[in-house]
Amino acid sequence: MCMEKTIVALATPAGNSGVAVIRISGERAKKILQKIIREDLAFEPRKMYLKKVFFSGIEDVCLVVFFPHPHSFTGEDVVEIQSHGGYFVAQKIIDELILLGCTLATPGEFSKRAFINGKLSLDQAEGIMDLINAESEMQAKNGSLLMQGGLKIFIQDYQNKLTDILAEIEAKLDYPEYEYTENESSDILNKLKDIETNLSLLILDSKTGTKIKNGVRVALIGAPNVGKSSLLNALTKSNKAIVTSVAGTTRDVVEGEYEYNGIIFRIFDTAGIHESEDEVEKIGIERAKQILREADIVLKISDDSNICNISTDQVYINVFNKSDLIDQEKMKKKIQNDNIFVSAKTNENIDNLKQLIFDKTISTKINSNKLYLTNVRHINSVKQAKKYINNAISEFNLTSMDIISSEIKSAWISLGEVTGNTNNETIIDKIFSKFCLGK
Ligand code: GDP
Repeated sequence: MCMEKTIVALATPAGNSGVAVIRISGERAKKILQKIIREDLAFEPRKMYLKKVFFSGIEDVCLVVFFPHPHSFTGEDVVEIQSHGGYFVAQKIIDELILLGCTLATPGEFSKRAFINGKLSLDQAEGIMDLINAESEMQAKNGSLLMQGGLKIFIQDYQNKLTDILAEIEAKLDYPEYEYTENESSDILNKLKDIETNLSLLILDSKTGTKIKNGVRVALIGAPNVGKSSLLNALTKSNKAIVTSVAGTTRDVVEGEYEYNGIIFRIFDTAGIHESEDEVEKIGIERAKQILREADIVLKISDDSNICNISTDQVYINVFNKSDLIDQEKMKKKIQNDNIFVSAKTNENIDNLKQLIFDKTISTKINSNKLYLTNVRHINSVKQAKKYINNAISEFNLTSMDIISSEIKSAWISLGEVTGNTNNETIIDKIFSKFCLGK
């Protein structure tokens, strides 16, 4: 399908760079390219040409390439112009292309056209964005798997399984007198249970997926001066948090992050939670409490003069800091023996602390070749599909088959929301293509 407007946008970031890529998509892409290079070239598909591009009384020597539809990113005729980088040149070429008939693309319009033209499913388009925005190894790997259709294949597979079950049920719905044999009923029920189990596993793993996407939130708590800021700096290897020996220095929440085993860990160094009359400090303490509530894990920091006994409902680790100053054997007799002894000053045990944080927050063994649901939209759709399947299972022997059938159809549509394939006609066509009763 070709959209009316031929759109243009800068595909590379604006600013000084060696090269800028300008992308055009739509029916008039080739014509407009011919105009800006002032030559009526036929253009072999996907072949680079070195051409002069004319704009605002200036010339740039650019590489240009033409991708005829449907073999392009958007599925339409696409042109790419590689000009010299820099804000002025790229912007002026775009202005010229607009004068020649292009319309400036809106954000995401190229991908939207790719989706509408069947080149990408919704989740694949989201995978591209995840890959572009990736800050960690696992985010990039997961985005890449998503972009390549890993989730789409899974979803299509389960939609097909549901279609098969629907075909079995619907074929007999027109015969109210038809009695399901025990074997037929238990076969349908087992198939539904199998689908439910697999969707449940996907949802369970999405807890890890969410951490891959958003990072793990780690809150540091403890009395002033136990070394929270120093620990944040040791964990993130930075000097972000202000470290002084005056109690109550960290008046607001300071954030830092590090990557460990491909996952981003976000550290929040809170103001020491304690009673204070200082108005500014009070605000910091309130924010610290909020951070504490939202954390995936809490590090309760103690030192030899202040043992942390703040209670929390979250998963936590007792961390005893300043190990370089104390006799650990003596101290172990005085405190709970689940403490890990670290020194933010000498870095003793900091790597072991990172491993411990990882083990306590990432419950499943991460498999970098496996696709995790990381996107809230996908997670919600799969949860919704599972709910409908659950309904079908629990009502199976209690209600009529047309109600079961309608629950299964709803599950099919919810699954399809992940990829964008919710078109009822697809399901109806598929069902009827499976009919073999001479109807
Ligand atoms: P916060 O108030 O809990 O954030 O504590 P800070 O990080 O500001 O540290 C308070 C004081 O303890 C500073 O003088 C730090 O240099 C010192 N300190 C922090 N960690 C260690 C450590 O592991 N060993 C030693 N010897 N001193 C530390």
